[in-house]
Amino acid sequence: MATPPRPGFPARLNIGQTSPAAGSRISPRRPSAPSLATPPPMLEGVGGQMAARDAIPARAKMVQQLAEGGVRDAQVLRAMGAVDRHRFVDSALLAQAYEDTALPIGLGQTISKPSVVARMIELLMQGGLRGADGKLGRVLDIGTGCGYQAVVLGQLASEVYSIERLRDLHEKARANLRPLRIANVHLILGDGMAGFPKGAPYAGIIAAAGGESLPEAWIDQLAYGGRLVAPIASGPGQQALMVVDRSRQGVQQTILEAVNFVPLKSGVA
Ligand code: SAH
Repeated sequence: MATPPRPGFPARLNIGQTSPAAGSRISPRRPSAPSLATPPPMLEGVGGQMAARDAIPARAKMVQQLAEGGVRDAQVLRAMGAVDRHRFVDSALLAQAYEDTALPIGLGQTISKPSVVARMIELLMQGGLRGADGKLGRVLDIGTGCGYQAVVLGQLASEVYSIERLRDLHEKARANLRPLRIANVHLILGDGMAGFPKGAPYAGIIAAAGGESLPEAWIDQLAYGGRLVAPIASGPGQQALMVVDRSRQGVQQTILEAVNFVPLKSGVA
């Protein structure tokens, strides 16, 4: 049986400056770039499979838009360009796989928008503990969903522990990851409100579901020098991104832009 060609990286990306703005550890949200003059190419699903050649230009365009929208970290852009988002969405949604939009993944949950995934991971990279290779150490990803963000994180961290409370989605993520044969991304079925103590302390913690307050366990499991990035209730029916930096002196919390994530719920279902 012929093996389809492996999708490669976009040959060269015009990603501009690669380091965060001097003097600020947390970059403010930059205004989005105006939309492109030409719409992204339509992606045709063939028997639920997308030809790799169709996905490559669409993904390169997505990365270009992320860069234009303010994502500066070259490693983050490279990781976003390396992961096939179309493998994580239902075949009926293939045409939208590389649009900057959240998409349903079943059970009322969504795969986050690429710009939000990139933004949150960039924030994590700016503050989390990095090794000599520039990669983050161990990262806890709360809310695996379809597994997309966990795989992007796997490119940027030594180990990723990704926890999901819904059994069906955990299984779906397992199925999505199986053909990718990624050794450093570990999927766990469990209640992420308790974190995942076995992997602690974490260089970074990132959550894709937002509650009224931050579970204490998350801070406890964050390494000194580590960073947490999570949505949090900021008012009735409102959420904002929160960044928490932990040091031996204590924790520093910063509230950033408004976001819209699914609710953080307790228990396994
Ligand atoms: N990162 C995912 C986004 C999934 S949406 C992706 O790339 O697709 C957020 C997920 O958080 C949902 O699947 C939801 O079931 C899960 N979730 C909500 N509360 C949780 C909890 N306490 N523990 C683990 N997962 C939780």
